[in-house]
Amino acid sequence: GSADIECDMMVLGAGPGGYSAAFRAADLGMNTVLVERYSTLGGVCLNVGCIPSKALLHVAAVIDETAAMASHGVNFAKPEIDIDKLRAYKEKVIGTMTGGLAGMAKARKVNVVQGVGQFVGANHIEVTAADGSKKTVKFKQAIIAAGSSVVNLPFVPQDPRIVDSTGALELRQVPKRMLVIGGGIIGLEMATVYSTLGARIDVVEMMDGLMQGADRDMVKVWQKFNEKRFDNIMLKTKTVGVEALKEGIKVTFEAAEAGAKAPEPQLYDLVLVAVGRSPNGKKIAADKAGVTVTDRGFIPVDSQMRTNVPHIFAIGDLVGQPMLAHKAVHEAHVAAEAAAGEKSHFDASVIPSVAYTDPEVAWVGITEDEAKAKGIKLEKGHFPWAASGRAVANGRSEGFTKLLFDAETHRIVGGGIVGTHAGDMIGEIALAIEMGADAVDIGKTIHPHPTLGESIGMAAEVYKGVCT
Ligand code: FAD
Repeated sequence: GSADIECDMMVLGAGPGGYSAAFRAADLGMNTVLVERYSTLGGVCLNVGCIPSKALLHVAAVIDETAAMASHGVNFAKPEIDIDKLRAYKEKVIGTMTGGLAGMAKARKVNVVQGVGQFVGANHIEVTAADGSKKTVKFKQAIIAAGSSVVNLPFVPQDPRIVDSTGALELRQVPKRMLVIGGGIIGLEMATVYSTLGARIDVVEMMDGLMQGADRDMVKVWQKFNEKRFDNIMLKTKTVGVEALKEGIKVTFEAAEAGAKAPEPQLYDLVLVAVGRSPNGKKIAADKAGVTVTDRGFIPVDSQMRTNVPHIFAIGDLVGQPMLAHKAVHEAHVAAEAAAGEKSHFDASVIPSVAYTDPEVAWVGITEDEAKAKGIKLEKGHFPWAASGRAVANGRSEGFTKLLFDAETHRIVGGGIVGTHAGDMIGEIALAIEMGADAVDIGKTIHPHPTLGESIGMAAEVYKGVCT
């Protein structure tokens, strides 16, 4: 059919998956169109996710660290928070990053087409701009990177005092009492920011622990360090009612287990709903292109990120868990390279996870709890930060580093770090797993002293004393 624009490669969505795919496709010589509904590139991660949350978490960490100096004999005045300026700082960080992406797109001659894309055929997509005008893009191949959206609870009314992660990042106010519904990473990161800015926080979680997916020994350290932040952590508790009253948001709870007692209803000034994200697969008319979408909105793909339609690929949050930016970027490169005829396929052994809370909690590969549940025999190298000179010097020795080894081969299969900067260090463990390193390889690698990263070498050395 006729088209306003023709291209080799059309990428739908400009999040970490989409922009990475478009840039790689262009670098590989494809004439590339990138379709994005919003005026900035970067998707959830840069605009309302990873980056703004880290800008605020950085400020929170500095405030907390400054307060901690009192016990080292240095007293600062109580921080005065200019919330408008803080918000402007966060916006500036976003602008720097999204502006950088726009420059990179231009340098590669990626044609960014702004508007909502809906497939109209296996080689055509229609893009509707904000003013209602439409353009049709004809493509030889496509990569779908339309991402995910927040999950809303059906019984929650519309009210400015009830927000999702996007609303929480807007930082309109610092409430006196705040409820975070959902004790996952996103909820706890925002709880960290708001509590440091002065809010009293409750967390309600249906499961029997916070930060599902992380080993309980790490979460325990985190929880103990954070006791002061929270008035009440309600586990195994369902939120069943949210009512917007003049005097506050009234929330009612129910015990998740039959017979258990539910907490009393509470009034809050701000309620953050952070109960997960769902894929956007059903919002792009994928059926018009013949692309299969599951009931839940995910798009199934093979190891080359190919959908059931061979010239259409899909990547990122839209293809499944874990919904993480670095996974989306890796998949983007696989898809673009496969589209260019290269043999690339997704064969990452592990994908690291990080909660950028205080302390940070990071893990990669198999976890101890998962191994126990599956009856897999592992051995552990555990290094408490109380024995790390650097952690003690920093006044932050609550953490630990642990490495998990296959009991027979002594190869590393997983690892976890809880402590400051854990997220910056977990990549070394991921590399060790990918390289098939064993305890001796890691223990005999000279790490700089005194660093927190040294704890990874130490954890390998203490493992069965293999290095001594
Ligand atoms: P997205 O980033 O969701 O991008 C999809 C893009 O497609 C969007 O820009 C959207 O506007 C566009 N789009 C969708 N449909 C259409 C359409 N029909 N037409 C045109 N455009 C369309 N991950 C981490 O790894 N580390 C973190 O620290 C982290 N922190 C987070 C904090 C928060 C508060 C949130 C919400 C998420 C966080 N994440 C983090 C998750 C991360 O943001 C996502 O995994 C990542 O953005 C997924 O990238 P993506 O390219 O698949 O999709």
